[in-house]
Amino acid sequence: MKNLVIIANGGAGGINFPHRRAQGLKKAVSIGYEILKNGGSSLDAVEKAIMILEDTTIFNAGTGSTLGLTGEIEMDASIMTANGDYGAVAAIKNVRYPIQVARLVMEKTDHLLLCGDGALRFARLCGIKYHNPKTREKERMWLRAKKEMKSTYFPKLYKLKELYETVGVVAMDKNGMISVGTSTGGISLHLPGRVGDTPIIGAGTYANKYGGVSATGHGEMIMKTLLAFRTVMYMEKYSAPVAGKMAIEYATRNKCRAGLIGIDRHGRILCVNNTEAMSWCYIKDGNMKSFY
Ligand code: ASP
Repeated sequence: MKNLVIIANGGAGGINFPHRRAQGLKKAVSIGYEILKNGGSSLDAVEKAIMILEDTTIFNAGTGSTLGLTGEIEMDASIMTANGDYGAVAAIKNVRYPIQVARLVMEKTDHLLLCGDGALRFARLCGIKYHNPKTREKERMWLRAKKEMKSTYFPKLYKLKELYETVGVVAMDKNGMISVGTSTGGISLHLPGRVGDTPIIGAGTYANKYGGVSATGHGEMIMKTLLAFRTVMYMEKYSAPVAGKMAIEYATRNKCRAGLIGIDRHGRILCVNNTEAMSWCYIKDGNMKSFY
């Protein structure tokens, strides 16, 4: 039997409210690990753990997602397994669990990524009900952020305060299968229709036989550097910790503010960031470790 491992992060944008963050992350990895322990697949563990994080309102995913420029919430999510299966949704509104819809795209369609109205229509066809993910807390933050903007004209995203609170989970099951999931409300005050790195294969999420990685941070730069793919490819030759170090150094050299979590084929973990702080938690062989 292979190592059972699950790691989650709650974004690389800092760790205010560390207690709330740690609670959500610990619950997510514990329930994910239970699935692995009971012989379940890493895909099920990742989906379930992400759903818990999507319900944890401190994070920017599912309920509690950040609001875009016009006050609407558009969410991105993706899921991938090491054997190459992939599904994603982009700019989807009014669902509780975007990760669930991403998995449905993977399993029920011939496509990899559905976006906007089409993604929503597909979700409804699959029986996913209406849900308003807006919370008072995130609405207040949005109002404050809007006031701080010099004009309502779209500012350069990288000049905004870092508010990366995307969630990601990577897990390895008893068969050694690695799965990865990532879910986000995007960057605060983004233009309507903006799609970040999270649903883009190889940018926010990637897995193959060498390992799996989920990214958080400045989506536009993560896309340009194809950071998740790059990190996994480093794992062909190097262990997860070394690959993580190389990838985050590459990100820094290319002015990409990011955080990464991942697992290599031997069950080794990476957890790195070049931002102020990242919240994370993992369980490996029954032992839990967390940032707080
Ligand atoms: N990467 C996400 C995005 O650009 C933001 C985040 O990590 O919180 O949409």
